[in-house]
Amino acid sequence: MKQEASRLLYFLLLFGLVGWLFDHPGWALSLGFLTYTVLHLRQLEKLYRWLREGSDDDIPEATGLWGEVFQNIYKLQRDERRSRDNLIGIIERARSSVSSLREAVVLVDGNGNLEWWNPAAERILGLQSPTDLGQPVTNLVRDPVFIRYFEQGPHDVPLQLPSAIHPAHHLQFSVNRFGSNDRLMIVEDITRLHNLEEMRKDFVANVSHELRTPLTVLSGYLETMLSMEEETPSRWKRALQQMDAQAGRMTSLVNDLLLLSRLENDSLKQEPRIVNVPAMLQQLKNEAIAYGLEKHQRVILECDDSLRLVGLEDDLRSAFSNLVTNAVKYTQAHGEIQMRWWAENGFVFFSVKDDGIGIDARHIPRLTERFYRADAARSTATGGTGLGLAIVKHVLLEHKARLDIRSTLGKGSTFTCVFPGSLAAH
Ligand code: ADP
Repeated sequence: MKQEASRLLYFLLLFGLVGWLFDHPGWALSLGFLTYTVLHLRQLEKLYRWLREGSDDDIPEATGLWGEVFQNIYKLQRDERRSRDNLIGIIERARSSVSSLREAVVLVDGNGNLEWWNPAAERILGLQSPTDLGQPVTNLVRDPVFIRYFEQGPHDVPLQLPSAIHPAHHLQFSVNRFGSNDRLMIVEDITRLHNLEEMRKDFVANVSHELRTPLTVLSGYLETMLSMEEETPSRWKRALQQMDAQAGRMTSLVNDLLLLSRLENDSLKQEPRIVNVPAMLQQLKNEAIAYGLEKHQRVILECDDSLRLVGLEDDLRSAFSNLVTNAVKYTQAHGEIQMRWWAENGFVFFSVKDDGIGIDARHIPRLTERFYRADAARSTATGGTGLGLAIVKHVLLEHKARLDIRSTLGKGSTFTCVFPGSLAAH
């Protein structure tokens, strides 16, 4: 800038000197200014044309300030071009890596219309390019369960559905929100996993079913032998009693496994009805007192007598009964068990509180897994199957409810079932 100022000064001095020689310094200075301005305007025009024609490599020739301006603009342009090429490279790599995925990846805009998808989406979902571009995704995947999931969620768990275009295939949809309500949908073909899971369910259900008859025969004979006191040698008595107890345990195990199989099998779902929960709880309370008769525990029932629930009666009875039985089992003699049934803040609750042995915090997240026990020895001694809380979890799932477990080791536990308020009936 200083250089340019001294250039202007020399320029004016030269013109001023010539003007002074010819006795017209004022005119000469004005001419000097004019020439200087014209020279700048020409450079400005060169700049304008260069920028407009966009030829990146031919830098216009110029000296002084303009030379620097051209050089700097050229450098900026070159840097920008490099980072643009870089970015295009990254986008291309991301695009080709997504294209090579086996999972279908679909971009859906804020209005629910298809924006982009990878080749796997054409194979798995039957999307066609370019006809389906801009179409609502719910026009192309029309299953009402998918439409509800896509529009309302919850999206923290994926949705599994049979494929609409490939019979016998199963798909898993997951939807992730990003930007301003845009969605990234990932669809996986989980046929193999689904078939394995079906095989596991069938195997457990069949084995349990097949074990039922031999167990009934065994238990029947044991019962008869035990009832014939005079004819049974006394040294056999203890063995027979133990066999009878173990046969009883196996029967509970088989029954629990069969119940779990039924809960897992969607096609065997019954129709929900209005369930008189207060009457059911009164009955469960009596059963709890009878079950823990020797322990002399105090069983309290606090109940909103007008509150009923729309649900599956038999399943609810199994779930509530498991919670109450556990409280009796894991609470010492003379302990207190409190059952509560109430509605509050748009939810319906059933809780069982005890002042029993409690559970160490590290076990709580895993308690609803099949056969998981906080204290295996004690559970077996009390005749537990390790399936009770798994049954509770499944029954609550089918009622869109959840189980809340609070417990302190040595102080007691509270198990609370939280049902959506929409299931309440009066
Ligand atoms: P189980 O047949 O062994 O009782 P559950 O699935 O019903 O199986 O319970 C799993 C485990 O959770 C039990 O083995 C026990 O360790 C623990 N548990 C359940 N309820 C209670 C409770 N009320 N107090 C203490 N521990 C409990």
